[in-house]
Amino acid sequence: MNNLFNNETFVVDSGMLKVGIAGGGVGGMAAAIALQKQGHDVAIFEQAREFGRIGADVNLTPNAVHALDGLGIGDALRRTAARPQSRISRTWDSGEETSRLPMSSAAEEKYGAPQLTIHRADLLAALESQLAKGTIRFSARVTGVEQDEHGPRILFADGSRFDCDLVIGADGIHSPVRRALYGEDSPRFTGLVSYRGVFPREAAPDIPNLDSFTKWWGPTPDLQIVTFPLNLGREIFVFATTGQKDWTDEGWTLPGDIAELRAIYKGFHPEARALLDALTEVTRSALHVRDPMPRWSEGRIALMGDAAHPMVPFMAQGACMACEDAVVLSRAIEGASVETLPRALEAYAAARIPRTTRVQEGSLANDWLKQGGNADWVYGYDAWHALDRAQA
Ligand SMILES: Cc1cc2nc3c(=O)[nH]c(=O)nc-3n(C[C@H](O)[C@H](O)[C@H](O)COP(=O)(O)OP(=O)(O)OC[C@H]3O[C@@H](n4cnc5c(N)ncnc54)[C@H](O)[C@@H]3O)c2cc1C
Repeated sequence: MNNLFNNETFVVDSGMLKVGIAGGGVGGMAAAIALQKQGHDVAIFEQAREFGRIGADVNLTPNAVHALDGLGIGDALRRTAARPQSRISRTWDSGEETSRLPMSSAAEEKYGAPQLTIHRADLLAALESQLAKGTIRFSARVTGVEQDEHGPRILFADGSRFDCDLVIGADGIHSPVRRALYGEDSPRFTGLVSYRGVFPREAAPDIPNLDSFTKWWGPTPDLQIVTFPLNLGREIFVFATTGQKDWTDEGWTLPGDIAELRAIYKGFHPEARALLDALTEVTRSALHVRDPMPRWSEGRIALMGDAAHPMVPFMAQGACMACEDAVVLSRAIEGASVETLPRALEAYAAARIPRTTRVQEGSLANDWLKQGGNADWVYGYDAWHALDRAQA
């Protein structure tokens, strides 16, 4: 079989690993930065032809910002991210505020990092700016992985392959790496469809609390509106869900019907409805989940991010968990050799699975901070020292 990825150009110092990462999303790039900082040779294989401005929001709570600050991308993040003042819960009809958690400086003092909300494309650009030139190979569609006594390899749609010391599957909810390790299974449709849109802040300057993360809790769990600032507060992001059993498409660019959305929320408080009125267009995307997995690694191949633990967005932790995974994985393999990698990857999974399982389940339960409560176990997590604690 030919090999289009030119393995020979990699010069691997002794102790340094040659790493192939399937998927150049948030998790794959964060892992690549962490591993390059340790001196490893890393290549990312991304199916997209380039990064477009697809998607909208990414919510980075202090646990994720702390992980990313340690990777050295804090300044790049803060150039475009907004910094929500508080995390507020409100009741759909009365508008009653049922909880308010101070974020921004209060979170920085308590957790060592603020909450940042950022356009996904800006987060990807900030991550990409920290990678060694040429790390990402675009238009590279991974179809599977395999391993034998010579090591693991990534297989591509064009018939080529990439032989390396370590493979990381960061290839999202439909991960071919996961499928190759654990067999065919499909994500489960939740019966919920999400709408996402952004409006310029000046389009609705009179809506209160636009500098905060606010969740409007509906009369039933399928109805909610979440809003927070993006782009240094110049834009306002809006996310809403409805139950729609007959529509299951997950695409990030499919248009939604804004009139239909406004009609569904017509009974909501005027300040919630004003958010939907300020939007001029929305995308629509069905929400899928998988059950937590008992294993994330086999030999020298490991999963991370949505490939390992996709979740519904009701704790806003999907990207945050991928950032934490990247840091813990890199710490787990520090000093590992080809022989000790399988054990190191098992230690990584053992440290992460209990936490991501709890977050997957908590997200599905959809009651996070509804009536207040202690957010420390999520926001106060220190990925840089998680392994020490798990092993203690
Ligand atoms: C295009 C897109 C837009 C998104 N928009 C939003 C949003 O607006 N709001 C939100 O909350 N979340 C969004 N998400 C999801 C969110 O970014 C992730 O849930 C989270 O960041 C976890 O990151 P991840 O790296 O594990 O997975 P992802 O961010 O999903 O990244 C996986 C990467 O793997 C690549 N990939 C998948 N299959 C293959 C393959 N066969 N070969 C090679 N590469 C492959 C994908 O193109 C993608 O770049 C989006 C995801 C994507 C892919």
